[in-house]
Amino acid sequence: MSTPAEQLHMTLPSDQDSTGRTLGDEEIAEVSKAILSGTLTSTKGQFTKRLEADFAKLVGSSHAYAATSGTGALHCAFAALDPEPGDEFITTSITDIGGLTPILYQSAIPVFADVDPLTCNVTAETIEKVISDRTKAIIVTHLFGNPCDMDPIMELARSRNIPVIEDCAQAFLSTYKGRQVGTIGDIGCFSLQQGKHITTGEGGLVTTDNEEYARRMYLFINKAWGYGDPNPDHYFLALNYRMSELQGAVAVAQMDKLDTSVSSRQKTAARLTERLAGLPGVDTPKVHPDAKHVWWKYTLHVDLDVIPGGAVEFGKALQARGIVCAPRYIQKPAFRCQVIRDQKTFGNSRFPFNLARPEAVDYDPRKFVGTFEGLERIVVLPWNELYTEEHVDYIADAVIEVARLLRGRA
Ligand SMILES: *Cc1c(COP(=O)(O)O)cnc(C)c1O
Repeated sequence: MSTPAEQLHMTLPSDQDSTGRTLGDEEIAEVSKAILSGTLTSTKGQFTKRLEADFAKLVGSSHAYAATSGTGALHCAFAALDPEPGDEFITTSITDIGGLTPILYQSAIPVFADVDPLTCNVTAETIEKVISDRTKAIIVTHLFGNPCDMDPIMELARSRNIPVIEDCAQAFLSTYKGRQVGTIGDIGCFSLQQGKHITTGEGGLVTTDNEEYARRMYLFINKAWGYGDPNPDHYFLALNYRMSELQGAVAVAQMDKLDTSVSSRQKTAARLTERLAGLPGVDTPKVHPDAKHVWWKYTLHVDLDVIPGGAVEFGKALQARGIVCAPRYIQKPAFRCQVIRDQKTFGNSRFPFNLARPEAVDYDPRKFVGTFEGLERIVVLPWNELYTEEHVDYIADAVIEVARLLRGRA
């Protein structure tokens, strides 16, 4: 039984169940074919191969490989670079932990760049500050589907000969200056987890134009076994990250719905942006003029001078109106999570942190002013391809009302 207060709230479609997912007859049909084929491994089946071919074509890269998760996809990308223990991967501390822990499994050190507090994305400027002679790669995360400003980042990376990995888990079909994210850097990584634009429950994809990285990622997914080689062997340390044909079949059907998911999200997000234009104390997302935001989530950025209590109070008031938002997104920067803060890795060794330059693991908050400010300001609204104009207007009305209420307390 819902309480009277709850009955006043509109129930929004959720990406955690059928109200906000597009899983249906098409997926059932493909999964049935996979099951009836009797072949559920992607080494022998056709679905995962088709997914890889379709996805490579869709993003315009020469190679795409499926993996068990976005985390797995990122692990493949990191392994493709074959870092030496203690090498450094520059990344962001405002991301899913699945973008970070595989760095440690490849015996490398995550080195955190600060972010632009208005987008929570890394920039060329923040990356440059943490480049060292141990930097093995730069990871850019297109947070919430809003692309990082890639031109200056690529210029910096190319000038230092450092490969760039794009974490596109939240950014399917997002573009920057007409180019798809995931094809601007050297490797792109995507996630098919339950809450992403399209889903197989769990799943991931990697893309690249680089033949050497492609080969290593393919091998890393397959226990480094050289399928089809004249004298195959297990060439190096690797795992089994293969997607099964069950996921592959669902993914093939979901892929057809990606375009609709993205364009619907763009349409409803534009409506909210319009409704909130000029609202004192609340900024809507800052998007590069030549970039296409794909709205994995819709973020509000509250002005701490105008809204007492910042994101936390704002989020609480929205939650009281039935909007299941996430004030402060991941709550704290990743370097404050136990695994990184306390270096909880392999036994008591602290490996690979024991090899790190002191500077690389110094998380003095003064180095992360943008990160802390960004988290204090951000309220992440759930977004969904099945939102109607009524849903958006309900959210807009709530945001406007909450902003007015909280401003009154200033
Ligand atoms: C979801 C996500 C991941 C991890 O993907 P999983 O499929 O959950 O393993 C990594 N990075 C970002 C930015 C994500 O949003």
